[in-house]
Amino acid sequence: MTITLPDLPYEKDALAPHISSKTLAFHHGKHHNAYVTNLKKLIEGTDLTSETLEDIIKKTVNDADKAGIFNNAAQVWNHTFYWQSMKPNGGGLPTGDIAEKIDADFEGYDNFIEQLKNAGLTQFGSGWAWLVLNNNKLEIMKTSNADTPIAYGVKPLLTVDVWEHAYYLDYQNGRGNYLDAFINNLINWEFVNSNLV
Ligand code: MN
Repeated sequence: MTITLPDLPYEKDALAPHISSKTLAFHHGKHHNAYVTNLKKLIEGTDLTSETLEDIIKKTVNDADKAGIFNNAAQVWNHTFYWQSMKPNGGGLPTGDIAEKIDADFEGYDNFIEQLKNAGLTQFGSGWAWLVLNNNKLEIMKTSNADTPIAYGVKPLLTVDVWEHAYYLDYQNGRGNYLDAFINNLINWEFVNSNLV
């Protein structure tokens, strides 16, 4: 499988003012692109070139000798999922099946956003906060650095990048303000629903 940098699913200025075009230009064009370039170099000439991105991640997790491959592969996957987790004029109350499931599994939207925001705020250093489906139940997860639920067979529904490069140009050290903007203005609930089925 050829590893490529996917286009953003919207224009670079489409998420402003919540995420600026400058942040997206660096985050997608430099950071995400670098993970793609690094991964291609690292797997060149190995059996992994014929594997899907997900299989590369599953085959290298917890293998210290392949940490570089795992980290870059997981970052490529996580970023592609993160871009899709957002849309212009998104956020706010969920719609569709996910709305009912959030009410059932979190006892309401307010508890859900409190837990999601808390996961993002308390992820020490770089990482990701996630809404996942685990044994058919919604759960909030956080992962460090490149780590990703798909390495462990847990199904991601939504993610927010809490590496500083995701928000520092727009919010400086205000990770909470960035998380508020993600929750209130950016979550793509149609994408979350499409992952639920
Ligand atoms: Mn990132």
